[in-house]
Amino acid sequence: MGFEKYKKNDRVTVTIEDIGNDGEGIGRADGYTLFVKDAVIGDTVEARITKCKKNYGYARVEKVATPSPFRVVPKCPFHRQCGGCQIQAMQYERQLAYKQDKVRENLLRIGGFSPEKIDAVMEPIVGMENPWHYRNKAQFPIGYDRDGNLVAGFYAGRTHTIIANTDCLLGPVENKTILEAVLSYMRENQVSAYRETEGKGLVRHVLIRTGFASGEIMVCLVINGKRLPAEEKLVEKLTGLRLEEKRIVSISVSTNREKTNVIMGREIRVLWGNGWIEDSLRVLDAADLGMDKSADGRSAENREKVTFRISPLSFYQVNPRQTEKLYGLALQYAELTGKETVCDLYCGIGTISLFMAKRAGKVYGVEVIPQAIEDAKENARRNQITNAEFYVGKAEEVLPELYEKEGLYPDVIVVDPPRKGCDETCLETMIAMRPGRIVYVSCDPATLARDLKILCQGGYEIKRERAVDQFGQTGHVEVIIMMQYCGKEKN
Ligand code: SAH
Repeated sequence: MGFEKYKKNDRVTVTIEDIGNDGEGIGRADGYTLFVKDAVIGDTVEARITKCKKNYGYARVEKVATPSPFRVVPKCPFHRQCGGCQIQAMQYERQLAYKQDKVRENLLRIGGFSPEKIDAVMEPIVGMENPWHYRNKAQFPIGYDRDGNLVAGFYAGRTHTIIANTDCLLGPVENKTILEAVLSYMRENQVSAYRETEGKGLVRHVLIRTGFASGEIMVCLVINGKRLPAEEKLVEKLTGLRLEEKRIVSISVSTNREKTNVIMGREIRVLWGNGWIEDSLRVLDAADLGMDKSADGRSAENREKVTFRISPLSFYQVNPRQTEKLYGLALQYAELTGKETVCDLYCGIGTISLFMAKRAGKVYGVEVIPQAIEDAKENARRNQITNAEFYVGKAEEVLPELYEKEGLYPDVIVVDPPRKGCDETCLETMIAMRPGRIVYVSCDPATLARDLKILCQGGYEIKRERAVDQFGQTGHVEVIIMMQYCGKEKN
């Protein structure tokens, strides 16, 4: 039976009672469910319906009739246009509660776990001290606005229209100065921006990555060609910038000629300085995981530090302060005594692997991006770590080889896959290897829940769980889980 009461462009009044997967508000108008972009839980809004399906529809806020007690004034003037910060209008404490709940819901609904089980293992989400300016990496699209002006900015939500804004509040303040310098180099040297629809024009994106501990900055221009006109002028502009306590140490270009949403090309050519930046992370212990503002400064200097080299194509966690807490939890959950054999799958530049190596017998890291593995090997050397070995390849291909050909039986397996989660072959091999503990770090609770279900069928049980907010103002959440083998295989 269809719902014919509403149609596109109708205006309705809705009270928002829930929050959807992307942070949108959910409410009912006469029993008809509406997903309302930019509405905050607790709001009553007047909304315009943008799309009608049989049992539910989508709408946009036209006016907030009664604001939610959780509503705050968004700091960023572009927050409704930009696809980045879906929940910026929600109070930060409420954002954390939402994320905690989102993880729980996924574990119940997709994982099939009982509420008693989940509530017994869930620890409180670890929030940020300051949920702004936390991102160390930004990729700004370069293009033209509607009037044909050269701009750097962001894509308007779900489109490829670029809106000029060099001042994103999630990144370091220096990004603006750097982007303005790139734009002025482009104007002065008649360098064109890429036009997506035609696949013509040169500069597509600017990647800026900052080492928060080191102050080192990398700037990489992604271009639809091999060279930039007057490359030395770009170098001159960027190296001439005065950036308070930070400095640019690497300027490079990456060629990407393909019509694709993938930002970076496969190769990097260094124009000036290093091909990488350096940064370091310290591991925070249990006492530092709360929202206590004093925790950060307290005895940070005494904590163990690992230094990393990071190349443009390598993955590096975007929120270093929260990463220190996340890795602290990963170490706790791994319960290492110094003798264990550990596999760190999806290891990137070896960050987790190297912290583990200091407390384990031997660590094997596996990662698909060759440049990241080169970084990982170099990082082991820099930190005088000799008990970590790194392999390039897909986890689902390398792990079975380590198992079948080398007869490897790790005590602990750590996985930290991208959003799509682990490949089934990888999970099956993990189960066959039967490590005592599995530590699963995830940036998508839905695929996490799906994978945990499989691991539980293979005899594992969830013992600990904690979410860490790595992505304030956005709907994303990071979760870490520890599972133990308990020998009850279910089919
Ligand atoms: N643990 C690391 C990296 C996590 S991000 C850290 O904390 O920094 C996930 C990583 O998995 C990325 O580096 C990505 O390149 C890699 N990856 C993606 N698919 C993979 C696969 N099938 N096998 C191995 N690594 C993969």
